[in-house]
Order: sequence, then C-alpha cells, then structure tokens
Amino acid sequence: MNQRIEAIRQWISQEKVDAVLLNKPANRFYATGFTGSAGTVVITPDELYMITDFRYKSQVQEQSPDFTYLEIDKHETAIKYINNLGFKRVGIEEEFISYSLAMSYEDQIPGIELVPMKSQLTKIRSVKSAEEVASVKKAAALADEGWDMIQKKVRPGVSEKELALELEVYMRKKGANDVSFKFIVASGTRSALPHGIASDKLIEAGDFVVFDYGNLVNGYCSDMTRTLVVGQATDQQKEIYDTVLKAQIASLEAVKPGITGTELDLIARDIITEAGYGDYFGHGLGHGVGIEIHELPHVNHLGTEPLIPGNIITIEPGIYLPELGGVRIEDLVLVTENGYEVLSHSDKALVQIPV
Ligand code: ZN
Ligand code: ZN
Repeated sequence: MNQRIEAIRQWISQEKVDAVLLNKPANRFYATGFTGSAGTVVITPDELYMITDFRYKSQVQEQSPDFTYLEIDKHETAIKYINNLGFKRVGIEEEFISYSLAMSYEDQIPGIELVPMKSQLTKIRSVKSAEEVASVKKAAALADEGWDMIQKKVRPGVSEKELALELEVYMRKKGANDVSFKFIVASGTRSALPHGIASDKLIEAGDFVVFDYGNLVNGYCSDMTRTLVVGQATDQQKEIYDTVLKAQIASLEAVKPGITGTELDLIARDIITEAGYGDYFGHGLGHGVGIEIHELPHVNHLGTEPLIPGNIITIEPGIYLPELGGVRIEDLVLVTENGYEVLSHSDKALVQIPV
C-alpha cells in the first residue's frame, strides 16, 4: 500500500498541489484497501484522510488503518474539511467527479484551484504488483474450472440464462467473491452481438455459443471468452472459428514490452481482413484488466503507449456475422520482462457438443 501512496505523492510534489482527492471507487480501493461505497480519500504530502459517514467508521479503521477517519453527514460533501484544512491547489479525478461537485468546490471554497489528475492514478494502476497478479490469476483459474464444467451442461433446450447462472454459482462456491461483470452467454444469431447478456433464448443444434465471463477475487477481475458449436460445425463455422483463433494466437504471441496496443490490434485485424471478414470485427482487440474490468492500457486504436511489464491485458478478436452468429476467443495475458504469460489456461480447440 505504501508504494501506492508514494506514487501518488510523487505526482503531488511534481504538480505542487496541496492534496489529492479520490472519489472513484477503483482509485479509492487502490489507495486505501477500503471497500465501502462512499468516501473521499485525501492524500497530502504528509497526511492521509478518509472523509465518509458513520456507517463506514469501523470499516475505515479496519481496512485503512493508516488513514484518519473524518466524519461527515451522509448528505454532506468533503467540502468542510477541505476548507478547514486550508487546501487551495487540489488534484481531482476530472474524468470521474460530477460537474456539480466541481462547481460546489469552486463556489464554496474561496480561492480553490482544481488540478486535473489526467488519469494519473489509472496509469499507476495499470502496472500490477506480484500480489495483484496473484489475485487476477486466482480469478482466472476459477474461470478455467468453470469452462471445464459448463461445456458439459450445454445441450439443445437449455437457456442462456440457466447456463450463466450455473456458471456463476459454480465459481462462487469455489471461491469467487463476485462476478466481474454480467456474463455474456449468446447463442445462435445472438452470438453476433458482442455484448449479448444471457437471455431466455434456448440453445439450439447448430448454434455458436459465446461465453464471456469473469470473476472478482480480492477486488481484482478476470475476463475470458470461449465459443463452442452445438453439434457438428459446418465448413463455414470452422472457417470463421479458425480465422479468429489464428488472429488471436498471432496477436497474443506478439505481446512483449515495447509493443503498443495499436500494433497488437493491427496484427489480429490484418489476419481477419485477409480472410475476408474485416468488416465483421467491429471492436478493439482488447483492454487492460485489474480492479476494473476495463482499464488502462488501451489495446485498440487508442493504444499508442508501449506496453510495460506488469500490464494485464486481454486479447479478444472476434468475427460477427448477423445471419450466422459470431465467434470470439479471449485470453487474459500478463506482460512480463521477456514477453508474456497467459493467465487463461482453457483449451482453444473448437468444442463441438454432441447432440
Ligand atoms: Zn470478456
Ligand atoms: Zn474483455
């Protein structure tokens, strides 16, 4: 935890601000370990405060012992303490706090100057410690166990929702604290929806079924996608699957420090385009994963910064044909000093469910 505070304090001294205010839950958790749903973290060159209401008093003392608890009424903001503590130049999460909160800081705190942190903390968070990697690995390992189990439950007549629920319950019983996002189980033509949340649709013979899911362990997310076919795959289904797999493997194997997210995206996109499906890969190759399911670094056309060891990213190309359905294959990958380590271990050969 101290290294995290140190990193924030480096920014504080660089920008010559009096304090940094954190309200975004992922940043608050990262800096303090506090899992409550309300509170303003205040970090100064030599003090640490957590401003929240009495519901969280004992939780702050337990989870964030280095932070001084300052109590406000449930409907108050941190303003009175910012005023009392005499802060003038204050770092804020400009991409998170509301316009009205920023306005009330400016209206009620004479002489305050708000300094945008420009995703500084999100950038710090994108490099994971060994402890953070261990939590993501645990979450990913549970997803692998889930995949072994759930493919045996797929058959015509079962609904997408039943499969999603069964998968969640299984992984929660094995130790997942929560899901990392609402599971996607999308079958038949619905599999062509990149974000097809599990519905009441029943699985049918001939369907592609996309499973995209993940767990939360110790506050860290996992994310993996596998696609199977119910029955014997047609030649076209095989061709689409093989193309996505080829693109997935090629971009995955290129992961190393120094390469950019844009370059990785292009490797996969070129393979899919060459196979004639360029118009049907309508999203970026991947994203960073950590406390949030989507975080830095960018692994798409916005990813101009070189990857660095400690980044955890997904590699998830797909092809989506509205009439036929879609295929996506997604692995979670750690960028290491020498290249990469794949954190998703589920097999990627096409699974054809006997019907
Ligand atoms: Zn996913
Ligand atoms: Zn993903």
